[in-house]
Amino acid sequence: MNSIRKDRIGKLLLLFFAIGMLLVPSTVKAQTVKVRYGGADHTYYKTIETVYVDGKEISLAGKPIYLKSGCYVGPANIIFKTGLKLSYKSSKSGSTRKLTLKHEGKKLVMKNGKKKASLNGKTTSLGVAPWRVRYKATNKVYWVVPLKSVCKRLGLHYKLEDGAIYIDTKEEEDEDEGTVSKAAATGSSASASTSTSNSSGKKIVLVIDAGHGGKDSGATAKWDKPNSVEKNMTLRIVKEAKKYFDKDAHFKVYYTRITDCYPSLAARYQLANSKNADLFISVHINSYKSTSAGTETLYSAERSPKTKKNGITSKELATCMQNYTRAATGFPNRGIVNRPNLQVLKYTKMPSCLIEYGFISNKAEYRKMSTSYAAYGRSLYNGVVRIARNHGLYK
Ligand SMILES: [Zn+2]
Repeated sequence: MNSIRKDRIGKLLLLFFAIGMLLVPSTVKAQTVKVRYGGADHTYYKTIETVYVDGKEISLAGKPIYLKSGCYVGPANIIFKTGLKLSYKSSKSGSTRKLTLKHEGKKLVMKNGKKKASLNGKTTSLGVAPWRVRYKATNKVYWVVPLKSVCKRLGLHYKLEDGAIYIDTKEEEDEDEGTVSKAAATGSSASASTSTSNSSGKKIVLVIDAGHGGKDSGATAKWDKPNSVEKNMTLRIVKEAKKYFDKDAHFKVYYTRITDCYPSLAARYQLANSKNADLFISVHINSYKSTSAGTETLYSAERSPKTKKNGITSKELATCMQNYTRAATGFPNRGIVNRPNLQVLKYTKMPSCLIEYGFISNKAEYRKMSTSYAAYGRSLYNGVVRIARNHGLYK
């Protein structure tokens, strides 16, 4: 492709992206994908825009993974060519298009539109047929393959958990084909590891931190003071969450503050460490430009495996809380973000994350947040219950 065309396509993509950003806030719309293959247009409703390959986050905006006949399918070009030591070849013989993937002595040859593939020369049947698919949003064509089937045959570990897909070189465990929707519905996951101190009727110990406070206002906006001051917003969310936790005997919750005061950052993580908490969650509101938008959850990737407790890692906690928070805000999904140097994420000795609900600097997001504290409190509670349930702590 010559560079002028490339440039024009780049501009077109930007335009699509800009239009997309304007349209996005409806959650439903963002989860729909329109594609074309086999000479017909198709729409799918359950999509995933982020995949983690060996822990590295890959964005699939505009070309998401989608659920087709109970299997998640996604663009092989992007997913399997990024970060993995895998050979990828798309070829054509006669009218047949083939995709050949090789990984550690395994060779998988797939044909366009055919469920039957060949693995090291032997016939194997994939969950659904791979297709060369045109994504209508970007008008680009990708090989879209059933991810779990392909991973399994290439000896890659595939995991669907709390609405995110993880593909890893290192194999841990695998589920049978066709359990995708069941796993998604029940959130079943590996919980076989580490301490069981809480699985036998003991309370789940939680520390919830309303960011900032007292002399530290956090981010502020000019629109609606003192309501549009971060420390007041975080406290209102935490107080709403407290209403739910107060009624649920599964939990023992410590709050770093429930008034307008300023505990130091050290006091916050020390509270969690001294109470031997099972989870630590910090509540914040983001701020940058007036056009910045979306929900994100921060965690420390480096600390995540080291602070694993009850089988829960910070990454999993962050992913779960991000899903629940984002569903509650309806803002664009900025995903989970590695921020290893924040004190409350760096020095906590248990799974921890920091939720940024939305941008106070964005007037529309501020307005929505300022009328949604009850919903955010509930989503915080529900997210915690979900992850506890996934790991057998909440019965
Ligand atoms: Zn903050």
